[in-house]
Amino acid sequence: MTALKNILIRRIKASGPVTVADYMAECLMHPAHGYYTGATVFGADGDFITAPEVSQMFGEMLGLWLADRWYKMGKPTDVLLVELGPGRGTLMADILRTTEPVDGFLEAVSVHFIETSPQLRAKQAETVPQASWHDDLSGVPTDAPILLVANEFFDALPIHQFEKQNGRWCERRVHADEDGDLKMVLTPAGPKFALTNPALHDTPDGSVLEVCPSGLSISGAIGERLFAQGGAAIMIDYGYRKSAVGDSFQALQNHAYTDPLHAPGEADLTAHVAFDQLAAAAASQGAKPYGTAAQGPFLMALGMGERAQQLAANTDPDGQTRILSELKRLTSTDEMGTLFKVLALQDPKLAPPPGF
Ligand code: SAH
Repeated sequence: MTALKNILIRRIKASGPVTVADYMAECLMHPAHGYYTGATVFGADGDFITAPEVSQMFGEMLGLWLADRWYKMGKPTDVLLVELGPGRGTLMADILRTTEPVDGFLEAVSVHFIETSPQLRAKQAETVPQASWHDDLSGVPTDAPILLVANEFFDALPIHQFEKQNGRWCERRVHADEDGDLKMVLTPAGPKFALTNPALHDTPDGSVLEVCPSGLSISGAIGERLFAQGGAAIMIDYGYRKSAVGDSFQALQNHAYTDPLHAPGEADLTAHVAFDQLAAAAASQGAKPYGTAAQGPFLMALGMGERAQQLAANTDPDGQTRILSELKRLTSTDEMGTLFKVLALQDPKLAPPPGF
């Protein structure tokens, strides 16, 4: 039994079953035993590998996208370059390296990281020492335009789950049985049910609906800032273009799927991102959404194919094989190219972004 499982069982015995959102938040961010607050989890040796860890080309394409936005914004001399959930800092390091030749860009930007895990903050400080760290967006200054990136951030935010039983929507909560095993139970739906998509309410018994309140409020806050401060945001994640019924709550440990209730704190927990809901939350605050585009066509439109050829031309046959397999991993339909989606949010006055 994990240390966190003991803590959760005590909490459930004292005050009853916890929402999936509370369970997810504890598993990922518990100060002593959370998944992101414990041992290093990313890269080929971790439980999963993200796009910037697959290849430097991912950050290079996003760096070009951001530099293009900066040009279209009229090359402002003071810009907040914000990343949500930077992991090991690899993506930002690649963005900063790629934009080095862009005259005036690095002088204009200050880097702001939104990160709650102290362990990951320490890792990020090794890669991008000049960054400033904040617990959430409210710590980022409000007096300059923003360029924001978020890769695999929204999928880690806690979701609520609802299930229809006998014609009524109930909330799924995590309970402990007499043997000390965690299991899902159905309880009266809490107030977050009001945030679910009403178009999906008239579905058969057994249907599951998900909603991510913190994702909606963060996207709304980004939209508000883009409208007031100017700039552009780009979010990449796996998920639904259009929200749908279905249970997408999942756990990954050692590159394999496992039961999300099996080893709390030791597996990565995620849920599909509902991009239509994030776009609507930002649009309601005045930002203009673009997309979603699928990751593969987006990266190819930005020139990843040409970049791979260029890198391959300068390396040995082993290097060429590696670069081609990285390109395939990021862009092909049967790997990350279709499941992963890209959403851009912008100040409505800004010219449309490339790649959509
Ligand atoms: N973007 C990185 C890491 C993705 S993992 C990459 O692509 O490799 C998710 C990241 O979000 C981690 O850095 C995690 O610590 C951070 N995170 C998760 N929930 C958060 C929250 N509520 N606030 C701030 N950071 C969070």
